[in-house]
Amino acid sequence: MTTDVTSRAQEAYDALVAQGMKLDLTRGKPSAAQLDLSVAMLGLPGERYKAADGTDTRNYQGLQGLTELREIFAPVLQVPVEQLIAFGNSSLELMHDTLVHALLSPLPGAERRWVDEEKVVFLAPVPGYDRHFAVCDRLGIELLAVPMTSEGPDMDVVERLVAADPSIKGIWCVPKYANPDGVVYSDEVTRRLASMPTAASDFRIMWDNAYAVHHLTDEAVEVADVLALAAEAGHADRPFVFGSTSKITLAGAGVAFLGASPANVKWWLALTGKRTIGPDKVNHLRHALFFGDAAGVAAHMEKHRALIAPKFAALEKVLTENFADTPGVSWSTPKGGYFVTLTVPEGRATRIVQLAKEAGISLTPAGATHPGGDDPADSIIRLAPTFPPLDEVEKAMAGVAVCVHLALAEAS
Ligand code: PLP
Repeated sequence: MTTDVTSRAQEAYDALVAQGMKLDLTRGKPSAAQLDLSVAMLGLPGERYKAADGTDTRNYQGLQGLTELREIFAPVLQVPVEQLIAFGNSSLELMHDTLVHALLSPLPGAERRWVDEEKVVFLAPVPGYDRHFAVCDRLGIELLAVPMTSEGPDMDVVERLVAADPSIKGIWCVPKYANPDGVVYSDEVTRRLASMPTAASDFRIMWDNAYAVHHLTDEAVEVADVLALAAEAGHADRPFVFGSTSKITLAGAGVAFLGASPANVKWWLALTGKRTIGPDKVNHLRHALFFGDAAGVAAHMEKHRALIAPKFAALEKVLTENFADTPGVSWSTPKGGYFVTLTVPEGRATRIVQLAKEAGISLTPAGATHPGGDDPADSIIRLAPTFPPLDEVEKAMAGVAVCVHLALAEAS
């Protein structure tokens, strides 16, 4: 019986390999059709260069970024306008720079610079975003994995760790439609993060709200206002909020944002003023004119949804048809964001990714969702369906299903 199943799975796999596919579900990138939605931006701001407040965007000045763009994104990111910075084209860059600044100059509330600490540790809820982990690796910040739940990081574990160990200086959070499992933080998790006692006086939450308006359903899911909750709890300086238009307008030419307490903003701008005279305000104006207001952002995101929701539906369909009753196989059904997490029986993820590769289907390496690229259970695979056209997503997922069947049959 088992042999039959294995040989059938092997036959299906051989047929898949024979198709000589070349498909890619690795990175969370917008498709060309999504980028086309913002192509009109390339003609903006045209000959116009004066902002609403009279700023000549062509010139130096304005380290904090253009006010009229900050006004549009303040409600989107739940940050008061005066506490929001609009900057370059990448929020990852802002996260990186913020940690470099904290290493080299004491944060508000810090006793010393982080380079002068014996060690600096960040909590990494897993599965998580590989580039967050890479920033820490690069800067010598150790990562300590903590488990995710369906409502955010396991707060019992987080609270215990941060209360006991002053070397734990921060936590990575993707609060809405998390990369990679689509989890949305509950209000209770956010409240606990904002108010928990920490042994480090300079503990920070890296609140990477990368998918704030990236809904896949009619429900515009909201998360709690972390800055307000932290201020209420007496920890105003704890959160750094990040976001960008990378997956709203143009992934290589958008605008990134940082929001924080007045003290953090002052600290950040003073240090950043040493590395640049200011950001690209022409791009800020381009974005402000393109959107008009926050409702303009929401309307634009509806167009993205129309393009990518069918891809997520295709992925869901293949997984349901193949694995609805398969023990140990489950997947996330995100209400937004860019990713689906496929969970397979322990020890099988690497094999599936390898089988897919040999069949011409690129998947994110197994383990990428964990610090050091090591998923101890070897059971998590991140799927990113936005970039390829719909028919390719369908083909790639049918192929992934064949690989999962074979990897499971091999282990039975
Ligand atoms: N944060 C998360 C959670 C992401 O998934 C990504 C991109 O995939 C980024 C940040 C990168 O953002 P940016 O293009 O603004 O650097």
